[in-house]
Amino acid sequence: MATEGAIRRRCAPVTSRGRSTIGTQVRHPGVGPTVSRNAPYDETTPLARELADLARRRQVLADSALPLPTSARVFTIANQKGGVGKTTTTVNLAVALAKSGARVLVVDLDPQGNASTALSIEHHAETSSVYDVIVGETPISEVVQTSPESENLSCVPATIHLAGAEIELVSLVAREQRLRTALQAHLAEQDEPYHYVFIDCPPSLGLLTINAFVAASEVLIPIQCEYYALEGLSQLLNNIELIQRHLNPRLRFSTILLTMYDGRTNLAQQVVQEVREHFPDQALDTLIPRSVRISEAPSYGQTVITYDSHSAGSLSYFEAAAEIARRGTPA
Ligand code: ADP
Ligand code: MG
Repeated sequence: MATEGAIRRRCAPVTSRGRSTIGTQVRHPGVGPTVSRNAPYDETTPLARELADLARRRQVLADSALPLPTSARVFTIANQKGGVGKTTTTVNLAVALAKSGARVLVVDLDPQGNASTALSIEHHAETSSVYDVIVGETPISEVVQTSPESENLSCVPATIHLAGAEIELVSLVAREQRLRTALQAHLAEQDEPYHYVFIDCPPSLGLLTINAFVAASEVLIPIQCEYYALEGLSQLLNNIELIQRHLNPRLRFSTILLTMYDGRTNLAQQVVQEVREHFPDQALDTLIPRSVRISEAPSYGQTVITYDSHSAGSLSYFEAAAEIARRGTPA
């Protein structure tokens, strides 16, 4: 991709971490000074302004219902870099949509099983899991569990056995299509249909991720607002094109979500600007802030939405979910 070099050159590391005027370059209500005149706070201090802003955002979310898709939207959450927010995005979007009334299925396709942990889903070595589905052809209905986060939310767990699956898959028939076959059968047998499926990928472009691309209708790429954020993006986009050409013509690269945004750094603002310039159709307006609450939540086996539903991180994931729901399926 020709843009990648340009993006990297222009996003040079920031040495000075001086506080800039927050929110002037990027639109994000969580960090910007936008406040309703009627907010019930004295808005003369930054903390009061932030509280007023959170209250206003909560109100906007509470006032609006989300449309439900007419058929299941199957998202693959992919980025071959680790630690960019794939799992955090998967579980929080899933819970946000489930709490808004959608029926949601999360497929944990990372041997680390982080999505299963965050959703409080049992996934010790003996648990029936996505490994049994794609290697052993066990139906999804036999391994799926309901998350305590929401009765609308189910999860296919990953266990440590999945770590060997990349190698075992190589010699299996239809090795790239195994998840798709199982998922289509599961979706078809539902009395109450799913509205969303989120597949959380491992940080690689191996056979597990290919299975996810083949099973999905949309790709969501989380991008961390850091230097090197776009490194490797062209390789990922090339892979998506190859999958579209040879294995899954329905696949659309529909969504980019910028994560771990720290509005105090010029670098984060530059990354946001560049990504929006190059991917205007895919980049969501919502930015996910870097937040201690988001990073704490998994250690309680929770999403940030359950751990601290009023936090800025939680609201941002609700806003991202609302944007995805309103945008609908891309043409
Ligand atoms: P990936 O699945 O891409 O490897 P994770 O979602 O596991 O990435 O996130 C990597 C780490 O960063 C985790 O410890 C997670 O809790 C933390 N994290 C994710 N998003 C945020 C955020 N917005 N603010 C702070 N920490 C975050
Ligand atoms: Mg992960």
